[in-house]
Amino acid sequence: MGAANAHYYATRDPLGARGDFTTAPEVSQMFGELIGLALTDLWHRADRPDARYVEFGPGRGTLAADALRAMGTVGLDPSVHFIETSPTLREKQAEAVPDAEWNVDLVGVPEDGALLVVANEFFDALPIRQLVKTGDGWRERLVACQDTLFLPIAGDRGFDQVIPPHLRDAPIGSILETSPAAVAVMRALAKRIVAQGGAAIIVDYGYEGPAIGDTLQAVRGHEYANPFENPGEQDLTAHVDFATLAEAARAEDAVVYGPVTQGELLVALGIDARTDALSAAAPERADMMRADRDRLVGAQAMGELFKAIVVTAPGWPVPAGFA
Ligand code: SAH
Repeated sequence: MGAANAHYYATRDPLGARGDFTTAPEVSQMFGELIGLALTDLWHRADRPDARYVEFGPGRGTLAADALRAMGTVGLDPSVHFIETSPTLREKQAEAVPDAEWNVDLVGVPEDGALLVVANEFFDALPIRQLVKTGDGWRERLVACQDTLFLPIAGDRGFDQVIPPHLRDAPIGSILETSPAAVAVMRALAKRIVAQGGAAIIVDYGYEGPAIGDTLQAVRGHEYANPFENPGEQDLTAHVDFATLAEAARAEDAVVYGPVTQGELLVALGIDARTDALSAAAPERADMMRADRDRLVGAQAMGELFKAIVVTAPGWPVPAGFA
């Protein structure tokens, strides 16, 4: 999954109508603006003189450009650090935010300054591992390969010991997902936030696990596809286990708020007032703004499936939307 996605992202811009999928910042400028202002508000109340904007997997740089513009309107002008592996998307990001610096992980980001961090639809792209319940107990689910045919099969080593006790008796065929890669990124991020001060807003589709369920999915041209076909040519993702991410952050002594739904968060941050203001400024686009707002917030659209957590350093104020 990691190798397929590395190839996939390195060789294309997958976002937008002509690509494979569309994300919240590509739906409306309001998403990035509200996230940027939420971080600015926290930073302001934390009373810090210094700030670095850090974004994981910035895509086209749209969210960052909207967030930084909103930050600028209230006088915050942080240095910008993008965590991105794709050379193609780095080029796009440079068009949106020319002053950014790029790294492949947090190691290159300076160890001073409060960190204001965003990750939208980043964690879902990290590789997962699946465990499957067989007649002989829990096994890792592996991928067999014959020529160009890929098939999921059960491995031959027992994994019962790593299954949470309350899930061990699940029916045969049950699948349990873990993401060691996501946990490792979360721990490294939380460690830096605790050491330097700061906060991270993490938004993605997900659930509070660990829980039984196969969420591995492939998307191509805005439609679901078979994840075992066309490796590296379609977007592979899994739903994010927010409870496990929160636990990883707390293990580094960070403070975690949420998850709340994306709809709840955006409404609490003032998306309705922003919709009204943008509509008043451009009445001919009012219907479109309302539709964009509904797509981000509506329960049948992105509002409930997508969730958010905020991770802060101890002693930082409570983030807006989590009082
Ligand atoms: N946040 C953007 C894009 C989401 S797509 C948006 O909301 O529109 C996922 C992003 O994560 C892409 O920029 C992709 O290149 C990047 N990415 C995927 N795996 C990565 C990894 N292991 N390390 C760094 N970036 C990664």
